[in-house]
Amino acid sequence: MAKSVQRVLEGGFEGNETPQLPAEIDPLALPEERKKVYVSFLEGATGVGKSYAYLIPAIEWAVKYKKRVVIATAQKTLQGQIFEKDLPTLLAKLGHVSYALLKGKSNYACHYRIREAENEGENHVHLPMYQPFREWLNKHPTGDLEAFPGDITFLNQVNVEECVWEKCDQMHKCGYLGVKTKAANAQIVVVNHALLAIDLQFGGGKLIGPYDALIIDEAHKAPKFFRDAYSLKLTLGVNNRIERLLDRMGVSQPPEYQKFRETISELFTDLSTTNPGDFQPSPEQISLIQSAASHAQELRRVLGVTLPAAPGEEIPEEAVAEEVPEEDPNEGRGGLKYAMAKKSLGDLFAKLEDTFNVLLCPVTEQTEYLVALEEERSSMRSWLALKAMPIEVGPLVSPALRNIGKVVVTSATISAGGEFGFMATEFGFTTKQLVEATQFHSSFDYKGRSALYIPPDAVEYDYNNRDNYYKANAAEIMGLVKASFGGAFVLCASRQDLDAFYNALKPQCDAAGLVLMTQGRSIEQDVAAFKRTPGAVLMGLHSLWEGVDVPGLALRLVIIPRIPFPNKSDNLLQARKRLAAERMVEMGMKESEANFRQFTAFDVQIAAIHLAQGAGRLIRSEADLGVVAVLDKRLYGSTKNYSAFLRRSLPHPLITDRNAVLGFLAKLGAKAKNTG
Ligand code: SF4
Repeated sequence: MAKSVQRVLEGGFEGNETPQLPAEIDPLALPEERKKVYVSFLEGATGVGKSYAYLIPAIEWAVKYKKRVVIATAQKTLQGQIFEKDLPTLLAKLGHVSYALLKGKSNYACHYRIREAENEGENHVHLPMYQPFREWLNKHPTGDLEAFPGDITFLNQVNVEECVWEKCDQMHKCGYLGVKTKAANAQIVVVNHALLAIDLQFGGGKLIGPYDALIIDEAHKAPKFFRDAYSLKLTLGVNNRIERLLDRMGVSQPPEYQKFRETISELFTDLSTTNPGDFQPSPEQISLIQSAASHAQELRRVLGVTLPAAPGEEIPEEAVAEEVPEEDPNEGRGGLKYAMAKKSLGDLFAKLEDTFNVLLCPVTEQTEYLVALEEERSSMRSWLALKAMPIEVGPLVSPALRNIGKVVVTSATISAGGEFGFMATEFGFTTKQLVEATQFHSSFDYKGRSALYIPPDAVEYDYNNRDNYYKANAAEIMGLVKASFGGAFVLCASRQDLDAFYNALKPQCDAAGLVLMTQGRSIEQDVAAFKRTPGAVLMGLHSLWEGVDVPGLALRLVIIPRIPFPNKSDNLLQARKRLAAERMVEMGMKESEANFRQFTAFDVQIAAIHLAQGAGRLIRSEADLGVVAVLDKRLYGSTKNYSAFLRRSLPHPLITDRNAVLGFLAKLGAKAKNTG
């Protein structure tokens, strides 16, 4: 795998040539080099040593050619591992390059806003919480909020979103600027998918600084972050947000604001009588959105607010200090507080303009948006949100990826049934456009140390007779966990399944001396409790299917009651299928055939990826042993046309003999008991 990464970085796909450019020439400056796009999809199974396989060539390339490489991951555990462990270890051997960890703006505390909040009594009820936070901040100068051990919800208003850079009198102690400067000068920068997505949205390099190569790890999660970055949302809360910013600017509410406010209120009153789901606006609602858009434009004009060119760029000159500062440099129309609020208004108006445009015309040149009315909730209340999400995100993100030119997309699960097409589309590529798409298989001895158990007589899910389904499969689960003496995950595809199985299994597990748990706290806490509890059976939903590492005999059985097909109520997925079918019809296919094909093109692919993730929890090291039990006979033989395809995602040898499985599990259970 390291060789494949190296080939992308070196551009060695044309007769394995060595790099075509001397080190001192920036490839971004050469149009002929920019035309060469090297995008590889490299799937590295557990145990392949994926992070070293890309870090070693990345370091060597950065050192040799003085290049900049960005590495993006989804989870902070992997970011921490790369930044705190892998990079320092490898750099000690491979030579020095500067490296940094950078997160999105909202992850850092802003000293200016903290002082402002304390002085003004803003967030009044939370004032007592500022003192311990300040003490922590003094010891943690980067102000990385993820590292604060307490509750940070009171800090919502004091992150660096409104930063005005050199106008700030707290700049000398600003952790965010320190981190950002360090990252801008580093040759290897570790970022999260959320920051990468926003950076790509603006062409790549605006937030992180220009880079020569990009490695996206945990890449199966990246499309969600891409979609989030390109999604737009309108809620009634926009009124209060504008009011707060006007207040901070010290500006009284102009009549244009009143008109905007009334129109937005009227729109959401109207929406409150509409059923959440796909949004088909009535003529009245369209007219209200049009009015709100023109009032917003008028309001921006009277306030003299300039739209930002791009996030992370310095604010336009005219947005600050247009007038003579008053005595306190932080106050008044020339002051920092005014400038910060005005900058935020600029960002808000820009977002509003995009949102109104897409709500009124969801089909753009690059993609089509799904507009949906959704109910959002917090612990205290619920509210309506009008959301516009790109149905296909690939066309939006691929221009930036092409511009970067050297991109490695990797994960333990980016193929489905051994094919990369589904995930490549999410990044805006066809498999033909990839210079390489390879699976690097694990060296683990799946054949000798594990089994895939599918009971061929498993009772199928029946909407009309759910009780029978749950009863029969709870009995199957109970037989397995009893034999293994726990040490088992039960991975459910829906809340309904989890509740029904839990209720059926709980009394039986209690009677058998097994400890049945469901996810209730953080995933780390749940897994830690599972590891230290003899005879534990942990049931969970999506977050237990991936990213959870329990090596050794502590986890010896993974039960998947049902093939994890996506939920039919997923509006976005339905829209993606509809769009794909429409394209096929345009190309001459019969509508019924085109619709039929979408199940294989989407549902089966997604199920294959989830299945591989769930089953992947079992074997985490060479010494691991155990059974993956999928209690769904649609996976067996050629029961369905997708059975064999799905089984290709599971490397464990198939076994259908219940007694043999129970015997194997009993041995593992006894061993686990003896080793404590
Ligand atoms: S420089 Fe920006 S982020 Fe830093 S303290 Fe000042 S306003 Fe806040």
